[in-house]
Amino acid sequence: MPVNDYRLDELDVVANGRVNGNHRRIDHSAVERAAGDLLRALGADVDAEALEETPRRVADAYAELLTPQSFRATTFPNDDSYDELVVARSIPFHSLCMHHLLPFHGVAHIGYLPGERIIGLSKLGRVVEYFSRDLQIQERLTTQVAGWLQRELEPKGVGVVLEAEHLCMSLRGVQKLGAKTVTSALRGVIRDDARTRQEFLALTTRTTHDQ
Ligand SMILES: [Zn+2]
Repeated sequence: MPVNDYRLDELDVVANGRVNGNHRRIDHSAVERAAGDLLRALGADVDAEALEETPRRVADAYAELLTPQSFRATTFPNDDSYDELVVARSIPFHSLCMHHLLPFHGVAHIGYLPGERIIGLSKLGRVVEYFSRDLQIQERLTTQVAGWLQRELEPKGVGVVLEAEHLCMSLRGVQKLGAKTVTSALRGVIRDDARTRQEFLALTTRTTHDQ
């Protein structure tokens, strides 16, 4: 079967014509030094045994959170001319808020109306994860996922809804613990056709209530 097979990181670079934020180079030892400085500035006793390894652990953690895993995003011809919505619901994700360097986490609902090609369902989760490993804001993450699918899959429509709890909000008294921020990016017929949009939103809303 003819497939389009490519690595997401290569394509992303080509599509954007530049190396984007997902391809940053992390200076691990500089992060360690900075984490030590931060601890000192916070009044911590960095010589205490319990904190001895903390700068390294912090650097390891940020490196992991900010390093996207490339993968092969395989698409297939839509041989059966499937023309109903494909929806993957409640895909868990976590990312790092660029304003506070604190995590936000939640679920993604992704749907598309196929055109000439379809994509493996598990890959939808990998796309979210790929763009999550970055200093992010939720709105940007939402539009990046939708934009990538629109560009690479050329479907008739794309819908992406993210629901997330931001620790920078819920831990700082601005909002109640568990409060969710919801963002969406709708493209093509999922945006323009009322019936399709309604169907997509009904599928994603139902998930929310089921949880
Ligand atoms: Zn924040």
